[in-house]
This record gives sequence, structure tokens and C-alpha cells, in this order.
Amino acid sequence: MSESAPTCVTVAVNRPLPRLYSYLPDLPARPDLTGRRVLVDFAGSREVAVVTGLGPPPAGAKLKTAQILDPQPLFGPDLQHLLSCASDYYHYALGQCYYTALPALLREGKAASYAQIPGLELTPVQDPKKISAIKSQEQLQILAILARGAVRRLELRERGISAASENALLKKGLVRKLDLHRDGVPWQSLTGPLTRESGPELNLWQSQAVRSVTACNGYGCFLLQGVTGSGKTEVYLRIIEETLRRGLCALVLVPEIALTPQTFERFYRRFNVPIASLHSALSDRERLDAYLDMQSGRAGILIGTRSALFTPLPNLGLIVIDEEHDSSFKQGDGLRYHAREMCLWRARYCNCPVVLGSATPALESLYRVKQGLYTPLELPKRATGASLPGAELIDLKQEPFTDGLYCGIGQSLERRIGEETAQGNQVVLFLNRRGYARHLICHGCAQILSCPNCDNPLTVHRAEGLLKCHICEYRRPLPARCPGCGSLQLLESGFGTEQVERFVRLRYPDAGVVRIDRDTVKDRRDLEESLKSVRQGRSLILLGTQMLAKGHDFPGVTLVGILDVDGSLISDDFRAQESCAQLITQVAGRAGRASRPGTVLLQSHHPEHPLLQQLLNPKAGYPQVAETLLRARLRLNLPPYSCQAYVLCNAPRREDAFLALRELRAGLYARFASNHRLYIGPTLPDKMEKRQNRYHYHLLLSAPARTELDELLAAAQESCLRQGTRSSVRFALEVDPQENC
Ligand code: ADP
Ligand code: ZN
Ligand code: ZN
Repeated sequence: MSESAPTCVTVAVNRPLPRLYSYLPDLPARPDLTGRRVLVDFAGSREVAVVTGLGPPPAGAKLKTAQILDPQPLFGPDLQHLLSCASDYYHYALGQCYYTALPALLREGKAASYAQIPGLELTPVQDPKKISAIKSQEQLQILAILARGAVRRLELRERGISAASENALLKKGLVRKLDLHRDGVPWQSLTGPLTRESGPELNLWQSQAVRSVTACNGYGCFLLQGVTGSGKTEVYLRIIEETLRRGLCALVLVPEIALTPQTFERFYRRFNVPIASLHSALSDRERLDAYLDMQSGRAGILIGTRSALFTPLPNLGLIVIDEEHDSSFKQGDGLRYHAREMCLWRARYCNCPVVLGSATPALESLYRVKQGLYTPLELPKRATGASLPGAELIDLKQEPFTDGLYCGIGQSLERRIGEETAQGNQVVLFLNRRGYARHLICHGCAQILSCPNCDNPLTVHRAEGLLKCHICEYRRPLPARCPGCGSLQLLESGFGTEQVERFVRLRYPDAGVVRIDRDTVKDRRDLEESLKSVRQGRSLILLGTQMLAKGHDFPGVTLVGILDVDGSLISDDFRAQESCAQLITQVAGRAGRASRPGTVLLQSHHPEHPLLQQLLNPKAGYPQVAETLLRARLRLNLPPYSCQAYVLCNAPRREDAFLALRELRAGLYARFASNHRLYIGPTLPDKMEKRQNRYHYHLLLSAPARTELDELLAAAQESCLRQGTRSSVRFALEVDPQENC
């Protein structure tokens, strides 16, 4: 070995520090140490860090030892590239980016290896008498699935099968448990066909979309635009199939809320290739298993929520992002990344296509189509031939002042709900606000009862007898008297889903009512239970928040009422109109998929609003609204026509947060004021200044081009690091914010 040969490793630690550190590895320094975790002494503690490269020892320094934890790299060249892009773009320390990318157990230094994977298989000798005695559909479904081979119990759970059915079969001796972790071979070496079933014959538009993507040799980004039910998922399935055929694996990102048993069922039923999944309903162990399944090449498809994009994916051949406009693809703390951006970097490096799908693409994505950066693909019609619901705008000003109006249901909507339910049809009522009343005002002293930790009014939850803060987890019993003046006269103001539920139950005693929001539905199983009665197709009023707008289809629904359009339409956030148009279009798209077309009723006090007019005009709709909104953004020089970022600062004391951020601003101003293309906003409190007992301030930065914003941000990051040592003050940078502070 020559003298200049590298003997030490450079290591990225999980700290907001701009530099890397050198250590002596406890194994010979070879290039394949890069991307492995190490255990190092850093600033007096033992921590997990990641090797980013090799180097000669720095002169004069006495190096500490790094204990190599992994027998092989966890971070291959593509992930190393991805994380360094993320670190540069989001101005977030590289070591912290690496840390973000690790599953919880690996952050703790646990071995990157399987423990046990609980599985089920058929017992070798089956008793036909016992089988024919089975009445439960679910038990029969399990037997049918297992007839094709052993499966993980997780797969059964994801397909919506209850543990009770599994246990019943175990008791009957028809199935038995086994540990599946030893049978790990790369999926490419499995024999048999890739798919179990072929799926419907594609229509012209679908075939064209599939052809365009599969003909793409290397990197390319496609925007697949199609209304709900136009067959986007079918397109994904075909493209994935083709990807697998080439021996490459696929990553599918979906919003958490859309990962329903139906989604999983479709993938599991279609593919013969092992599928891994990553979402919030998994334990840390299951998350690590999914990570290892992909890393080892055991699984060929990964379906997951935004953080799944950090998984090692050898031979990555395709990335799909479904509902690409969804706000859940943006991470709100730590490394504040957008999954769409990250996927593009990864795909570019891996030289593979990305497919973004949506009925209501983000303005950002439509703009990139205009720039020629994305290829547009369109599915103009519903695949099943069902027509889209017609929409009507109701002027609330013209409606009589009825009881229903107090909880957002005007007389016209009230009458239509009655007509539809009387005919045995289903109705969806959408309101994006849970709880009974928005807040409680004291009639005696005019105090609004607020959260002690935040500036937020407490929401009334009557059924539970609680006041809850929807920002932190604070809750207290519903008081009989005002805590300030003792008055018994407490006025409820503003309505939420719980109040609407009470009204419709009283008003339509014969219709079933199902409410779906975070208070009635705690997890996916609850949701499945609630949706069962909907699928049985009986007369029903289905009432809920966001959860209703995404991922579920309600073919029996003939009427959709959107209760509070104005609340989401009128806002000081320039993105509010975009999300409002997306939401209305998405909710409307859930209805009337079968032979019965549906109607959407939008109630507004401002029916003349141009956005509503355009959205409901059959010749215009979302695409035209998006055009209009983009033109307005151009005129006002707002994203995507400019680049924005926030410097965020918070502290337990108001003046600490304000002064620290003002000082940082002064530094930026001194350095960049001469460049008139840059905008450095004033130091302002957030809309909700006090949250969880800390005061929040922000600074808006804006620049016409990314490179200029980057210069500003680099300077901001530097001062954050310098000031960040002041213990109580916390800084963060938010690049491409998706919400106003
Ligand atoms: P999306 O993802 O756009 O909501 P899906 O792929 O879920 O649409 O398709 C909607 C429904 O139409 C599904 O039940 C699907 O099986 C069916 N479907 C999709 N493509 C076709 C086709 N080419 N012919 C017949 N039915 C189809
Ligand atoms: Zn009072
Ligand atoms: Zn609170």
C-alpha cells in the first residue's frame, strides 16, 4: 500500500453542522465502507453516523476509532447522491439528511437484519369436511390466498383481513404459522409468471400512456392527468409489470390516506412478485423488514408514503407518485422536503421514468409541462364509461334562514338529501372541520376559550364532553361556567362534523348516518368498518372530512353536498384557491361511478366567485381554473414563477425569537440589499404566533431564480448555525413552503 492510500473515513453525524469528521475505521479502509453506518464518539456521546467517503488522515490530529456496524453499505451511490442533493437544496446538514433516511431501528444502531417474519401457510393435509363447513367469506379468502403459497401475516392485514379469521383457521388446523425470513432470494430468480391476472383490456388513452412511458429509455417525467375512475391505477399496474419484466423494481408513493385495503388488494392480487410496504400502520420492526426486503432485492415493488423514497432500491426502474398534488408529500419538520422533488433527483440518477398521476395536478406540475420538463399524458374519460357528476351552485344568500343553515345545510340541499335517501340512494356531505362547534365564547366577558399552550381557540367536542386543541394535544372537560368570569352563558360558534351529524340524524331518522373523521376513525381498520356499510349500498348519509375526499370511491352515491366552500375559498394564502379547486374536484369525483350519475351541490355565499363559476362550467373545469390561477401567479410573481423560502425561528420567550430573527435578517440585508432581484421580508409573527408554548416568527425570502435563492439561503443557514448555539432559540429553513406561516 502506498503512503498516500486513504486510511481513514469521513463521517456525517446527525447534527446541524456543515462539515464532515474523520475517524479511523476498525476495518481496513476500503471504498465499500462508504454508505455503511458507524458508531463513533462525538462531542462526548456514542452515536450512529454514516461513512461518506475515504481520505488520508488530517495532519497532526489524533483520530478516534469508528466502529463499522454494517457488513455492507446501506446507502448505495444513488442514495448518496440523493441525500447530497437534498442537503444542498434544502440547506439541511448532510448528516441529518442521512439520519432522516434511516428506519428508526437502524438509527438506534440495531443490526440491519431480519428477526422473524410471521407468516401463514396451509397445513399439508387438509380436511375437506372442515373446509366445506366454513361459512365466513374472510376465512375462505384466506384459504384461497394461501393456496398459492405461504404469505406474511402483514399482507393479510393490509388486505383488510381480520386476525380473528386467521385465528379461527389456526384453531381448525387448516393453516399453520411459519417464519418466512429465511426464504429470501431476489425476486428476479423466482420462477413463474410476473402477474397472477391480466387486468382489463386497456382503452386507447391508457394504451397510449403505457406506451409512452415504457418507450422512455432512461429518465423522463410524465404527468398522467385523468379524472377519478379514468383508469390511472390500471396504467400504473401495466407500467410496473413492464418494469418488472425488465428485471427492475418499482417504487409507488401514495398519500397515507389512500393506502386502503382496496389499493393493497389490487397490487397483491395482480402481482406474483413479493411486495413491500411502508406506512404509518407498521411497527418499527415491520418497517425495517420492508427496508431489508427492498435492499436485498427480495421484493420487486415498494408501496409507501413519502418517506419510502429513502429506501435502498437496487435496480430501480420506475417511480410512480399517485395523487401527486396531495399535501402529504411535503414533510413539515426536520428535513422539510417534497417527495416529488426528491423522486425526480433519484430517478434522474437511476436513469428511470417517473409517473405523476392526478385528477387535479399541482400548479407547479402543470407549469413544468408548459416548460417542456414533463410529458403530459391524458385519460379524458372514466374507464367504466360512467359519467361525471353534474354540479350546481347554490346561492346561500337566497336560502331561507332555517335550522339547517346553522350547521351549513341550506333548504335546497336539505330537500335534495330527503329525496335521494327516500329513494334508497346514498349522499355524501363534506365538511373539512371536525368537532361540534368551532369555539366557545363567553356571553358575560366575551372571552373565547383558548388553548393555554397555543393561540388557538378550543374546539367543542360534545359527545366526548371535551374541549380540544387541534394544534397540540391539549384537552379539558367541557366547562359549565366561564373560567374567567364564572358566567353560565357560553355560546357555541361555528359548526363541525359532529353538529352536522346530530342535525341529519334528527332530520332524516330513517337514513343511516356514518361520520368519518379523525374522531370517529382512529386507524385504517376503523375506516374499513365504517366503509363496509357504504359498500353494502343501502340508503345512507355519509358525512366527513378530508378522509372522504381521497382514495375511496362511493359508486352508490348520487348526491354530494359540499357544506362550507367559502371557508376554504377565502383565505390570505395564495395557494388556498388551488387547494380549494382540487378539493372540490376530488370530492365530486368520488360519486356516481356506476350507472347512476351523481350531482354535486356547492353552497356558497359568493356563488358569483369566478373560481366557482369556472370550476362548475362543464367546458372549463379544473384545467381552466389551473390556467387562470397560473396567470395570476405570473402577474404577481409568485411560485412557480419565483422561488420562495422561509427562515423560521421560535423560542419560549417572544422577544428571544423576534430579536434572534431580526438580527439574522439584518445580516442578510446588509449583504444582499444591493441586489434588487431578491426579496427579504420583514420579521413577522406566524399567523398562530404561540404554538405548544413557543413563540414563532418567520422571514420570507423570495428570488426569481433558484441559484439566487440558494445564495440567500446559504447565508441564512450560516447565521442560523452561528446563532443556534443560543440555547432556547431554534431556527429552521423551509424551502418551497406549501403553506403561509
Ligand atoms: P383511477 O386510478 O384513475 O381512479 P382505476 O384504475 O381505479 O382509475 O379504474 C377505475 C375502475 O375502472 C376500476 O374498477 C378499474 O378496474 C376499471 N378499469 C380501469 N381500466 C379499465 C379498462 N380499460 N376497461 C374496463 N375497466 C377498467
Ligand atoms: Zn366569561
Ligand atoms: Zn394547543
